[in-house]
Amino acid sequence: MDIPNYRLPNNQSTLIPDENARHVLDIFLLLSTENISIKKAWLQMREKGMTISSSQFYELIKKPVYIGKVMLKSNNNQKIESIEGLHPPIILTSLFEKVQEKLSSISNDDLIKKGSKNYLYPLRGYIKCSQCGKVLTASASTGSNPNRKYHHYHCRKGCKERFSVKIAHDLFDNYLKKISIDLKQFDNAKKKIKREIQEQEQSLEEDRLKIQKQITRIRDIISQAEDRFFEGFMDQETFKNSKIRYLQKIKNLEDEILRLDNFD
Ligand SMILES: [Zn+2]
Repeated sequence: MDIPNYRLPNNQSTLIPDENARHVLDIFLLLSTENISIKKAWLQMREKGMTISSSQFYELIKKPVYIGKVMLKSNNNQKIESIEGLHPPIILTSLFEKVQEKLSSISNDDLIKKGSKNYLYPLRGYIKCSQCGKVLTASASTGSNPNRKYHHYHCRKGCKERFSVKIAHDLFDNYLKKISIDLKQFDNAKKKIKREIQEQEQSLEEDRLKIQKQITRIRDIISQAEDRFFEGFMDQETFKNSKIRYLQKIKNLEDEILRLDNFD
């Protein structure tokens, strides 16, 4: 039994299922049952006589060609989208989707498993290789005793840099102990920072008030000029020019307040 496939019949541009196509349905039906793993399904198909590697099996169950679709590829050969093909589907879309859901939940599990190893290597990605400067990764290896695993941080670029996880963690613990400060010092530092912030805010408030006073003074000057203008002591041109000049001063002062407000 070979890998099920489609072939191009003579002088036709569409695909027809080959004689092994019915096994595709068997595979998808098998996978759609609740508790079977992909590996188990693959082994069962192997037992039934299908010549297929696990990676071929894994590829097969992802192919939308079996629900009558073809993948369109972009220039750089990446799959972009699937469209309805002209060939007959071998399996129902709902069955295909059920298996795809199973696939995605399995790859999520794999991710979780991979991630959960992080507790073994908390410093992975934080230590730099002293030879090439790239961050070290971590992994386990077996030594002379195959029942024991040795965990190491090591360079992924092939440098000889390599630490046992135990040594690296002890060094890091010692480093942390060195930089710890006593609580009283910490408390004093906190108070000092708080005081400095308060002082800064106070001086900001004083600056703001000063500018506000200047603005009020200029508004007074303008209103006095208005009085003089209406009383006939100032001609229109002089009044207009000085009013514009003072309004510009107010505008500049208001900008300064805005700048102070955005200081923090
Ligand atoms: Zn390196």
